[in-house]
Amino acid sequence: MSRATDEPSACGHCGIPARVHYQQWIEPVGWHQWAAPTTTQILARMKDRRTACTNPTTKESQ
Ligand SMILES: [Zn+2]
Repeated sequence: MSRATDEPSACGHCGIPARVHYQQWIEPVGWHQWAAPTTTQILARMKDRRTACTNPTTKESQ
C-alpha cells in the first residue's frame, strides 16, 4: 500500500497523512489510528517523491 504521492510522515499502515487520518480500515490491520511510519518507510517515500517529481511523464507507464 504505497503510492508515489505519500507524504513521508503519513501513516505506516495505509499512507494517509495524519491530519486527515482519524480512523481508517485497511487489510490486514483493520481499524486503526494513525501510526508513525518506520525510518525505512520515510526514506522510501522521500525517494519515491523525488522520482515522481523528476520523471512526471513516466509515472503512469510503470
Ligand atoms: Zn493508517
